Amino acid sequence: MKNNIGLEVRANGKVNLYLDVLSRADDGFHSIKSIMQSVSLCDRMIVSAARSSKTEIRICCDVPYVPCDERNIAHKAAAKFLEKCGIQAEVDISLHKRIPVSGGMAGGSTDAAGTLRALNKLFGGAMPNDELYKIAASLGSDIPFCLMGKTALCEGRGEILTPLENRAKLLFLIVPSSESVSTPWAYGELDRIFGDFSGRDNEARFNALCTALASGDVHGVCDNMYNIFEDAILPERPIARRAKELLKENGAIGAMMSGSGPTVFGIFESEETRASAAAVLKENGYYPKTAESII
Ligand code: ATP
Repeated sequence: MKNNIGLEVRANGKVNLYLDVLSRADDGFHSIKSIMQSVSLCDRMIVSAARSSKTEIRICCDVPYVPCDERNIAHKAAAKFLEKCGIQAEVDISLHKRIPVSGGMAGGSTDAAGTLRALNKLFGGAMPNDELYKIAASLGSDIPFCLMGKTALCEGRGEILTPLENRAKLLFLIVPSSESVSTPWAYGELDRIFGDFSGRDNEARFNALCTALASGDVHGVCDNMYNIFEDAILPERPIARRAKELLKENGAIGAMMSGSGPTVFGIFESEETRASAAAVLKENGYYPKTAESII
């Protein structure tokens, strides 16, 4: 069967509304507890595939510093999918990046999830859902969440998922930063500050956040958001720190860093206050992006 139809895919980014580290094993493995939230800010992908005598995967991307060869996580996802299905094919992936790269918003992970979804559709559902999740988890710990989307509790390395009830429609202003953060360095900083992560108790805050999400209480969500990485990263990253201050000074009811940063986001009560905060951030040299939660 020949299959060469191009599929357009929206690959949504995520923010962490809650991110804690529970423990660190001797092998360096950090056990996390996180609430991830899909947002409407997305990469646009066009994926096409045709069976062939030899597998070839081609990627093009509108951002010059994202690799287009085997290093691209969408390439890895396509290769793994074809291998597991025993299919040889020519695959073309065109990537229009909108999610900040290396920003703590799972930009690469969501492209990998989008690739898996698209190829499975193009090849007539060749891969059962549970197998697709297994491939996702083998490629990276945020990828299973990107496949599932919406709102979920993510545990283990992030790959153990429980969907969460959520009625809170959140209006975000997302502010990328030019400062880079390496995830291994960020975890090293956490180890330095928190040791073996024992003696900490965020249970009440976590439960209050879950209750606020379930009842659609946006203020309750903002009051109980948490990201353990903020204490390690923001003191070292003045541009991201200033963005968070500006969000708070200009009407955000909550503001926080996403993942290991440096992207920060604000949550607003109305589109009007969000628009005026966006104008102030632009005056200060930032490039804020609006987004909504996908629930
Ligand atoms: P996470 O939130 O999952 O930790 P991130 O948003 O911080 O991820 P990414 O945008 O996924 O980070 O990029 C991390 C690195 O992966 C970059 O160095 C980038 O060059 C590389 N990369 C590989 N494939 C992609 C892709 N499809 N999109 C963006 N970056 C990619």
